[in-house]
Amino acid sequence: MKSIWKQDTPITARKGLQNDMSTQVVVIGGGMAGILTAFFLQKKGLHVIVLEADRIGSGQTQNTTAKITSQHGLFYADAVYKIGKKRTTAYALANENAIDEFEKLINDERIDCSFKRLSSYIYTTQNENKKKLKHEAKTAAGFGIDAEYVEGTHITELPFPIAGAVCFKNQAQFHPLVFLRHLAKKLTIYEHTKVLSVKGHTVYTESNRIEADYIVFATHYPFLNLPGFYFLRQHQERSYCLALRNQKELSGMYYSMDENGLSFRSEGEYLLLGGGFHRTGKKITCQDKEYGYTFLREAVKKLYTDAETAFAWSAQDCMPHDDIPFIGKYSVFCPYWYVASGFKKWGMTSSMIAAKIISTRIYEESVKEYSEKKESLKYEYVFSPQRFLPMAAAKKLVIDIGESICGLTKGLFSKNEQRCPHMGCKVEWNPQENSWDCPCHGSRFSYEGELRDNPAQTNLK
Ligand SMILES: Cc1cc2nc3c(=O)[nH]c(=O)nc-3n(C[C@H](O)[C@H](O)[C@H](O)COP(=O)(O)OP(=O)(O)OC[C@H]3O[C@@H](n4cnc5c(N)ncnc54)[C@H](O)[C@@H]3O)c2cc1C
Repeated sequence: MKSIWKQDTPITARKGLQNDMSTQVVVIGGGMAGILTAFFLQKKGLHVIVLEADRIGSGQTQNTTAKITSQHGLFYADAVYKIGKKRTTAYALANENAIDEFEKLINDERIDCSFKRLSSYIYTTQNENKKKLKHEAKTAAGFGIDAEYVEGTHITELPFPIAGAVCFKNQAQFHPLVFLRHLAKKLTIYEHTKVLSVKGHTVYTESNRIEADYIVFATHYPFLNLPGFYFLRQHQERSYCLALRNQKELSGMYYSMDENGLSFRSEGEYLLLGGGFHRTGKKITCQDKEYGYTFLREAVKKLYTDAETAFAWSAQDCMPHDDIPFIGKYSVFCPYWYVASGFKKWGMTSSMIAAKIISTRIYEESVKEYSEKKESLKYEYVFSPQRFLPMAAAKKLVIDIGESICGLTKGLFSKNEQRCPHMGCKVEWNPQENSWDCPCHGSRFSYEGELRDNPAQTNLK
């Protein structure tokens, strides 16, 4: 199913790589993170090529809802306890800066991608949650975000009454593929060029090898298990979206803190409705009406009785155990490899942060001039994949280890064709999307076993 972005944004096709070559930087992956990183690297004067397994923007980026915001669910009040005040402040400022960076870039490049500043709200319909929201608003405001708690009566444009909400002012939204298409224009990109392995400075595709000083893994989920161990540090979560035609344009963007809540934003005459999320590969039996498209369609029946659904689509993202993206060196053992992953469904600002940090680091290393004072490196330590925050990660790590043991054990007793080629876990049937999904690490395959989502790199046997 095509997203609202995909249907109206043809992107010029690029040829696949035909010969061996050498370059300063290879960026693997042509999504939001990869294209932005390559763009800034090229702007700094480095020779960079992008290798994309499919088409530019054909990964999760084409299925996002493209809110550009530092409001990442209920985050800040919790984060203070989990990662401390200093790191939480840095996280807030890095994300607020990323919104400004988008605006600056869009203005400088004159990109007509319906970029718009507006408020972002996290809301509840339940009175007992108001206290939590008030606390979140106060905490976020303390970290320099223009945030305030608003009573539900202030919000009248949603189709149900709200008890309360946290408003982050001056956030933004845009058309992600129009933006990406523009940035891609000036870049050297090889499409339909899948990277199979990377060893040292050499990148291997199906038929070629590329020598590079630096390699950036912007593949959504890092596909090499070692080094880095990213498969042990995050899981994937799937969410669903509908676009309803002929709806009144909203003045804000909305996200719910309630279980089974809905996300809202407008794109012109379309209302984008999101929700029905679940861990990839879990709780997706036909009988369970609380997930996926079924959940969203039932909400539409109740809330927008005469609405026409124009588009329906879904996507998934990597959820790191400590709720902080992985941006920086892939591993201490490969100091010239970089990674951008774990965006926890907030990949617009995270991609901008990644692009700024990684491009600045690679530039400095290539010219051997180092400056810790650079704005883009001020918050680098928060996102470093080499951070060690066991207390923040412990709860989700234990759940994930349980899921992996369960998936691997089931895999051992399953037929070959039901075993995920990534690590051997048993894949589960998803009737909402007619796909085989891995509950451990989130790889997905079509009914016939063709690969749809990584970290797996090959089809089911
Ligand atoms: C339903 C949903 C709604 C969302 N809404 C928002 C939102 O409103 N705001 C927000 O900030 N974030 C949102 N996100 C998150 C955001 O969409 C993602 O985090 C972001 O798009 C990820 O970009 P990416 O470049 O990392 O990955 P991708 O866009 O997936 O790009 C990775 C690319 O790498 C390529 N690739 C993979 N393996 C290889 C290989 N071996 N060789 C070559 N190429 C390879 C893939 O083909 C793909 O094109 C949402 C996520 C979901 C699931």
